[in-house]
Amino acid sequence: MRRFAIGGRMFPVAFLAVYLALDWATFIHQAPAINITPWNPPAGLYMALLLLRPRGALAPILTFVALMAGDVVVRGMPAPLPVLVVANVLVLGAYAVGSLVLVRRFAVSPALDRLSDMVWLVVVVPVAAVAASAGFTIPYAVAGFLEWSAFPSVAVQYWVGDVIAILTVTPFLLLHRRGMPHDGPRRGRLEALAQAAAVVAALALTFNPLVPDPSKILYVLFPPIIWVAMRRGVAAATVAVLVTQVGVVLGLLAVSGHWRDLTYYQAVMVALAATGLLVGAVVSERWRLEARLSERQAELARVARLSLIGEMASSLAHELNQPLFTTIGYTRSSLQLLLRGGERDAVVDLMERAAREAERAAQVLSRIRGFLRQDGMPAAVNLAGAVADMLALARPDANRHGIAVVADLPQDLPRVWMDRVQLDQVLLNLLRNSVDALAARPGNGGAGGEIRLSARPVDGKVEVSVADNGPGVPEDKVGPLFDLFFTTKPSGMGLGLPICRSIVEAHGGRLWLAANTSGGACFSFTVPAVENV
Ligand code: ADP
Repeated sequence: MRRFAIGGRMFPVAFLAVYLALDWATFIHQAPAINITPWNPPAGLYMALLLLRPRGALAPILTFVALMAGDVVVRGMPAPLPVLVVANVLVLGAYAVGSLVLVRRFAVSPALDRLSDMVWLVVVVPVAAVAASAGFTIPYAVAGFLEWSAFPSVAVQYWVGDVIAILTVTPFLLLHRRGMPHDGPRRGRLEALAQAAAVVAALALTFNPLVPDPSKILYVLFPPIIWVAMRRGVAAATVAVLVTQVGVVLGLLAVSGHWRDLTYYQAVMVALAATGLLVGAVVSERWRLEARLSERQAELARVARLSLIGEMASSLAHELNQPLFTTIGYTRSSLQLLLRGGERDAVVDLMERAAREAERAAQVLSRIRGFLRQDGMPAAVNLAGAVADMLALARPDANRHGIAVVADLPQDLPRVWMDRVQLDQVLLNLLRNSVDALAARPGNGGAGGEIRLSARPVDGKVEVSVADNGPGVPEDKVGPLFDLFFTTKPSGMGLGLPICRSIVEAHGGRLWLAANTSGGACFSFTVPAVENV
């Protein structure tokens, strides 16, 4: 099959076959004499090809060959060959320039994966179609195959036939080239069925014998398309638009008497297609931005955790020093004892002590390693364990400032449903903020400072609080406290609280400033208790 795909050796043959089949199936011969069909899907096919720009001059050559073959095979040579050649060269020129302008000037990607791609397509195609329409009809008129008096209406018919075909077919082909793209939240099958039913119902409502003039109620075709576009984005919108367009053509064929107004119907369809495509593109763009934003947020959270670790490392160096020096002391003593031929039991005792101290150092290190691990999934977590670990991380720094850190957890606290690493991050952040607030007190600094970490079960959740007896948050700083990059510290990043809040909220909890006076601040957060998950 790859030989027939774009870029494959058999692609030109496949393209021409599909082109002629499509031209044949959709060619509805209309007066006046020259062969202009009121809906020209093949134009959508070659516009997609011109935008995809396969190697070299393949796209324009294939397009020209297809246009000529269509005229000769499907449309029965409406004019002598030279007229056809001139007309088709002009049509090709108009769309080749149009597609070049789209790609080169407006940087439109054939993947149509930005809102601007769709906007430029909807703007440039109608302009290029004016040139194509003039390019096609003028040679016929000059050669006498078209009355000049009929020229305006024929030119308009050509224009609208091409614009609607390109707007319905080209985005559909480009977006579904590699199967149905999934760019947004998944929607249920039932909803898809309801949407399909709505499109069909709108068409049935418009084109049925009870409606004397379908053109008066064409607006009923809009809501289903907007529904699809808003819920499923641009790729699905192209499907809805295409189905509606086919439905309108079939409806007009079925309900006799309105065929002569086709240009009017097509003009409404141009508006409908443009609306559906643009709404879909806006919705898809929003999904893309949301996805990018959450990627950035995850990245920020990682950076914040790393910077926190960097700061912690210096205090931890302190904590590591002690067991390491003690280990060295014990091993030196046992060495001397051995050299002096000392007692075996005494050596063993010294070596055991050395091993215990080394293990203590290893534990400190493994806590940092656990904290650096960044992937994770919520699980049932024992809060007391996490609190003990984080207190151990925060304590050296607190001690240095003369701050006491107390944990007050009830024995029978249920476990919480949270990602362990992220729980650590929230706890450590709140502890760090309290240490910072206490240490920055003018005068006595941290001396006499106390941080109290408590927890209690409330309504199927566990509420954790970190309270300090620092200066509290000034009244005018309470408002922006949780804003990204809000900080009052000279080297602060202002990421801690917003990231903690988003972590807690992602677990179904809440984080807030629970108490705030000049005698201290208390931050609380809730997380689901395991019994209630
Ligand atoms: P950062 O710690 O980088 O400044 P945060 O988002 O963690 O970022 O904190 C934002 C601001 O909130 C801090 O700069 C500080 O002014 C204030 N704040 C946070 N916790 C406390 C607290 N316990 N006491 C007083 N102010 C606090």
